[in-house]
Amino acid sequence: MPDTTAHAPSLPCAVRDRLLAVLGPRGLVVEPGEVAPYTSDWRGLFSGSALAVLRPASTAECAAAVQICAAAGLKIVPQAGNTSLVGGSTPLGRGDEVILSVARMNRILAIDPVDLTMEVEAGAVLAEVQKAAEGAGCLFPLSLSSEGTAQVGGLISSNAGGNTTVRYGNMRDQVLGLEVVLADGSVLDLMRRLRKDNPGYALRHLFIGAEGTLGIITRAVLRLQPANRDTAVALAAVASVEAALDLLGRVRRHAGPSLNAFELMDRFGVALVLKHIPGTQDPLAEPHPYYCLIELSSPASEAGLRAGLESVLAEAIEDGLVRDATLAESEAQRRALWRLREEHAEAQKREGASVKNDVSVPISRIPDLLREGTAAVRAIIPDVRPCAFGHLGDGNIHFNFSRPVEMTNEDFLARWDDIVAAVNEVVRRLGGSFAAEHGIGRLKTATLAAWRAEPELEVMRRLKRALDPTGLFNPGKLLP
Ligand SMILES: Cc1cc2nc3c(=O)[nH]c(=O)nc-3n(C[C@H](O)[C@H](O)[C@H](O)COP(=O)(O)OP(=O)(O)OC[C@H]3O[C@@H](n4cnc5c(N)ncnc54)[C@H](O)[C@@H]3O)c2cc1C
Repeated sequence: MPDTTAHAPSLPCAVRDRLLAVLGPRGLVVEPGEVAPYTSDWRGLFSGSALAVLRPASTAECAAAVQICAAAGLKIVPQAGNTSLVGGSTPLGRGDEVILSVARMNRILAIDPVDLTMEVEAGAVLAEVQKAAEGAGCLFPLSLSSEGTAQVGGLISSNAGGNTTVRYGNMRDQVLGLEVVLADGSVLDLMRRLRKDNPGYALRHLFIGAEGTLGIITRAVLRLQPANRDTAVALAAVASVEAALDLLGRVRRHAGPSLNAFELMDRFGVALVLKHIPGTQDPLAEPHPYYCLIELSSPASEAGLRAGLESVLAEAIEDGLVRDATLAESEAQRRALWRLREEHAEAQKREGASVKNDVSVPISRIPDLLREGTAAVRAIIPDVRPCAFGHLGDGNIHFNFSRPVEMTNEDFLARWDDIVAAVNEVVRRLGGSFAAEHGIGRLKTATLAAWRAEPELEVMRRLKRALDPTGLFNPGKLLP
């Protein structure tokens, strides 16, 4: 169950003066009213006071600020776009925390279309990175619903996944080089842009997915891809998750590496989007139990993707596997179909309290997960409303539960731990993960302790002690 602690001590004057000298007035926020927006998460579930928000404009400023905070015994909560869904980027409210936001370090420094690399600062917003890559005739393939807000530093630190993992992998797979400010204020320069670079420990991987507990990422070299020039998007309605899996197999066999995304949505989730998000509409004549959103793309300009996808779907309709389908005829239609998927989080938020499970299982076990998980949660709260959607193509389902219509948000959220435990019990039995792509933050530290064996946890603790012996960075997050 998320906590919501809050109280408001203040930054010692001498420390404030030193930070002001390094960061300048734009780089230091101390007024409680201006600090407040940084202290709550996107869903309003995790908040805690901070003494100040530090907003360095360069790596040097960041390093100097880290030294000042370390000397003063303060703790630093790194923050980028603050879209963490596990309470990773907001303070606990212990009274000794400052937030270090990298949002002002948002420049795209260089793009090389021959090397297929981009050098960026950690505060660059994902949508801007995508746009810049496109402007250079390339593609930055990571894509998620928070892309208008999430920033490179946060995406790397949480090793974000998203809609295109099935083809391009997670954020980890997009990072060739990094620059990190360490706990002693030194700068670790790993800004190499090589595809092959094999001299022992791959240090950058330590910081990818470390959720801000080992250092502050200030710059990165990202791997780009050739731009896709042919795209086909379809929405296919199916009667069951088994049928969705069958369709995934058919599309994969047909499209091979052109399969960009294969997303699952249940009717409840689509109905919430249609209810709460203005301008959305159901592209099919009737409601159906499940929907698959399929995207194919290729760098070849006339790859014939649309015709190919159409014939796969026509055959699937003839075989009784697909009940109805529509293919996007224009960019506007493509966007409209994707909106049905991307607005799920917002629509669920507007519907009231929900409990989110970001889980993965082997793809073949997804039908078992949804059936057994729903039964397990209904045994606790019979009228609960399951909302399962996500990345079917890589086995990652956002297996969420909205409160029953007649239940208050408060009463429902009081059952948070019970619901999560019921789902996790099924996930574990099916050989899955309780933290597929959103990470641990402060939400899942206890679960990490319960799921991972002591030797693995001890190696994590040793790494933390080696790089951050005083526990300067992101206290209370990730490590149990
Ligand atoms: C609507 C919505 C949809 C989402 N969809 C997806 C999805 O499909 N897939 C997915 O994986 N996630 C998803 N997320 C979760 C979230 O957007 C991602 O995890 C994203 O990577 C977080 O980026 P951010 O810039 O907001 O980071 P923040 O939330 O600011 O930070 C995330 C973590 O990284 C740390 N951190 C931030 N910046 C730095 C830095 N410079 N150095 C070191 N540590 C740092 C923080 O302390 C925190 O632990 C979604 C969130 C929302 C709100």
